[in-house]
Amino acid sequence: MGKLSRRSFLKMGAIGAGAGATLAFANTKASKKEDKVIDPNEGVKRVKTICSICSAGCGIIAEVKDGVWIRQDVAQDHPISAGSHCCKGVDQIDLVKSKMRLKYPLKKEGGVWKRISYEQAIDEISAKMLKMREKYGPDSMMFMGSAKMNSQQAYYWRKFAAFYGTNNIDHVARI
Ligand code: SF4
Repeated sequence: MGKLSRRSFLKMGAIGAGAGATLAFANTKASKKEDKVIDPNEGVKRVKTICSICSAGCGIIAEVKDGVWIRQDVAQDHPISAGSHCCKGVDQIDLVKSKMRLKYPLKKEGGVWKRISYEQAIDEISAKMLKMREKYGPDSMMFMGSAKMNSQQAYYWRKFAAFYGTNNIDHVARI
């Protein structure tokens, strides 16, 4: 056997160390955690629905797990929106999940929002509306509807404005 140079000896040492490390890794059992690949879609139902923010009614796929709406996707096969949304519809899920969602009437008193009943809210708002009509006339009020309204709601809204005594009414038509 010939004489081994210092350089060749070091090379052989490096190869040996590398092979040892690879063998050691191969013999190590993967932990249980690494074994299980979590499928984020497991148990998720894809439910066809529509965006209710305006009357265009763009298609949305609501992804629901255990009865809770967890994600949303565009409905590629929707006949109107054909897989698109405006910026509001993209976040339609927030109407349900947002912490900012208004769930009951609130009144600001002394700079603090306080929960009040629907009865109190209706009484106070209607008393103010009557006062405004007495003081400034019915045309001092503008009734803004919503593109979310269906035909029946829009009909009632129109009647409400007429009974108040004004034609100042509009809505948020999108198309
Ligand atoms: S146009 Fe926008 S707000 Fe109107 S239904 Fe479509 S996504 Fe919703």
